[in-house]
Amino acid sequence: MESSRSAALEEFALARERLVRRLSERGVRDERVLKAVYETPRHRFLPEAFWGQAYKDTPVPIGEGQTISAPGVVATMTEALSLAGHEQVLEVGTGSGYQAALLHSLAATVLSIERIPVLAEQAEAILSEMGCDRVKVRVGDGTQGAADCAPFDRILVTAGGPELPLPLLSQLAIGGLLVGPFGRRGEQELLRVQRAGAQRFTREVIGRCRFVDLIGEAGWSAR
Ligand code: SAH
Repeated sequence: MESSRSAALEEFALARERLVRRLSERGVRDERVLKAVYETPRHRFLPEAFWGQAYKDTPVPIGEGQTISAPGVVATMTEALSLAGHEQVLEVGTGSGYQAALLHSLAATVLSIERIPVLAEQAEAILSEMGCDRVKVRVGDGTQGAADCAPFDRILVTAGGPELPLPLLSQLAIGGLLVGPFGRRGEQELLRVQRAGAQRFTREVIGRCRFVDLIGEAGWSAR
């Protein structure tokens, strides 16, 4: 039993090594991001039935009609945040908690907001098991951010919204970055927005993607 368990862990570590190689071939350059992907056991955040797919570059269902993004998308978004290690980060859409675990390895603190209580609970349990003690999970509407903890150096939105939520822009520190998918339901542009001054924001499109809906006051209404 013990030896088959350690063989499985070795198998997962090898699969992560292959995944990291693939991500680097596909253009992910940030060594810290690649190291975090290598060290974070993505399978632990997935339902056991999907462990065999944990290190393929595909999205995976996590229950409640939600999906965890493909590792390539997660790595691209994480790289776009240009994290050095000292940042206070807000994540909107905790989902499985995998992205929050990566952010925990790359930044100082992470506040992650999830609207579905059971997902938040599961993510919180696994994050605490993995020792991610600088991540806080909160249940609520992440389109409203967390005014009590603002400003944030980085904001990562991991569900697709119709437009940039104003509360998030106002909770971004000057010089800070927000990354997230915005546009139509079912197809969005991945935006990277920098707050250059109190009232000055610059934005660039860094890709196209398809995320589950961002549902909330400054997002879509539930259907
Ligand atoms: N970052 C996640 C991916 C989650 S999928 C991970 O690593 O697994 C997107 C998540 O956003 C879903 O769990 C969905 O319930 C959540 N979500 C959608 N709208 C939200 C909102 N307004 N506030 C907080 N979470 C939201």
